[in-house]
Amino acid sequence: MRYRVAWMKGDGIGPEISDAAIEVLNSIQESLPISFDIKFYDLGDRSKIERGSALPEETVEGIKSSDASIKGPVGESAFESIVAIRQKLDLYANIRPARSYEGVPHAGKIDAIIVRENTEDLYKGIEFEVQGVATSLRIISEKATRRIAKVAATYAIKRRKHVTVVHKANVLRVSDGLFRRVALEELGSGGLTVDEKYVDAMSMALIRNPEQFDIILTPNVYGDILSDEASQIAGGLGFAASANIGDLSSLFEPVHGSAPDIAGKGVANPYSMVMSLSMMLNHIGISRSDNEAMRASAAISSVVEKSIKGGILTPDAGGRLTTKEVGRELAKGVKEFVQTG
Ligand code: ATP
Repeated sequence: MRYRVAWMKGDGIGPEISDAAIEVLNSIQESLPISFDIKFYDLGDRSKIERGSALPEETVEGIKSSDASIKGPVGESAFESIVAIRQKLDLYANIRPARSYEGVPHAGKIDAIIVRENTEDLYKGIEFEVQGVATSLRIISEKATRRIAKVAATYAIKRRKHVTVVHKANVLRVSDGLFRRVALEELGSGGLTVDEKYVDAMSMALIRNPEQFDIILTPNVYGDILSDEASQIAGGLGFAASANIGDLSSLFEPVHGSAPDIAGKGVANPYSMVMSLSMMLNHIGISRSDNEAMRASAAISSVVEKSIKGGILTPDAGGRLTTKEVGRELAKGVKEFVQTG
């Protein structure tokens, strides 16, 4: 099969880690009966400066008309670009795995997935200031909560069948009260173990005993914060990939920002982007029932695991390789993995 992929390289380290992931995708095309027609689109700070918009209409149309899309991080214009895309294309499920790997120093053993509602909460962006008083409206709807809870159940069923619902319903009694009620209702009938935690207690429990968590279901803002914490426990932002999934489109991206402090130095960790690519291929495989896409995703995951263990790492993870060198090694590893079955 041939798939159309929209690729936004983004800002800062985005182009460097994208190039490394493209090298891996090319090695997939060369070794498996699957191919990709990659089209590049503008997004983020540079796009804003050069084209007057952080999210040009052409980019939105490009994502809509592609089979899958993937982006590098963006800088200061995140709200106008990525947050806007999530809402425009109704990419309501943000899936953020946090997994510790042998070979990378980590604060605790973790293998969890944060399932974060992606279109509402304070990130709806309804804010105003009147006479020195700033107000932000927090939107939590039954519809959005129900559908994200369904996604959490789908993941839990395939894993340890355990969901932790994170909220602060003891204080935010109406908004988080609704999230809690609807989520527990939705998860109650599927043979899952469901527990709940207040978000402050959750941030502590994640550090104290991260191994206990499987699927973590949360509203948008808590999920944003907890996923950075979980990735740090797992070994750092350089290994954190994510998916934004809706009924009609999907978009895959690293969890981290554009890392302006290391941009252009050739030392950015490309695993976050390569693992986002693996998530994209897995999604294509499931949604199109394509075994080759599933095989491609599994090949990348295996090679990633082996390479991390084998010390193929950039300096942030204690290694000495450049972004390009890691990309090249992963591409070579994927080809060998596929050829040797
Ligand atoms: P932004 O404003 O775009 O979010 P930021 O620097 O505030 O950028 P991040 O980009 O998320 O936030 O980076 C936080 C820290 O993690 C920085 O020190 C950065 O260098 C480091 N970092 C993030 N991603 C990577 C990566 N892929 N490889 C190596 N270091 C990274």
